[in-house]
Amino acid sequence: MNDPLDDRILELLACPLDGGRLVYSSENLKCTHCHSIYEIRGGIPLLYPDDIDMKHLEEEEKLGSLMEDPPALPKERSYQQQWELSKQEFWSFVEEKTRGGGYTILNAGCGIDRRFLELGDKNTAVAFDLTHSLLSSLRSNYGSPHNIAGDVHRLPFRHESFDCLCCIDLLHHETEDLRLILRSFYDTLRPGGKLFLEDVNAWGVFQFWKSIFLPRSAHRKLRSSYHRLKRSGIQPAGYEFPTSVWKVKRALEEVGFRMIETVPLESYPLRNSFLKRIYRSIAAIDRVRRYHNFHYFLFAEKP
Ligand SMILES: [Zn+2]
Repeated sequence: MNDPLDDRILELLACPLDGGRLVYSSENLKCTHCHSIYEIRGGIPLLYPDDIDMKHLEEEEKLGSLMEDPPALPKERSYQQQWELSKQEFWSFVEEKTRGGGYTILNAGCGIDRRFLELGDKNTAVAFDLTHSLLSSLRSNYGSPHNIAGDVHRLPFRHESFDCLCCIDLLHHETEDLRLILRSFYDTLRPGGKLFLEDVNAWGVFQFWKSIFLPRSAHRKLRSSYHRLKRSGIQPAGYEFPTSVWKVKRALEEVGFRMIETVPLESYPLRNSFLKRIYRSIAAIDRVRRYHNFHYFLFAEKP
């Protein structure tokens, strides 16, 4: 038996196939337009379109379980710490921009990021991910109140329903559909809405030689051999590829976003401490922190 969804949340949802309104139909949600039925499993609506890529879903489930249970190798740990630090930088910036509270905030591709949940104290924070198991863990272990499962290619939300949309490390999983996804982010935001976008940067100071100059197939082979040799716990899926901060910035503009800015980042997730020191010394240059960090962080507004 599921607890009924909060009315505010039901108001935000839409059929992923045609954008129709969703209403309760016994224990499920039903589209008032195409009459599709969507299951609510353990309090989490499963709003998947019927043409969802199952292979992709399985890959993401695998990555998701690693995210929940990060590897314990010492080298990986320091890398994870830097990763955590970059998330702290991200969420501090979001907090600054949402000071005062009262915002409706979507975290698209939320993974197991707990920092986001803290925003829920003053705002309506909705966690959205492809994998039900991650959301279920977020809900039962960390008390995430609003969780929706679905596919970012067909966001199951009404147009202009959110004040803010956060998205971390998702675009490099969806490089083929960059514009489509940014457009759906645009549609989901209200006028004046804010977008916070962070992702792996093809122009990162220690990675651009491979992500920009190597052919993708060679990059992928190199990367999978690297992870095999290192026996690293997190193996990227074959379709993952860093995106260029310049390209994404341009795409945001084409989709209609304005006031687009790059946010400088201090942390650089590296396994090599020598390279970490190099980054620290050149990070005094503002441009390096904005355009050549391991991640880029873009902030934009919908007019
Ligand atoms: Zn429908």
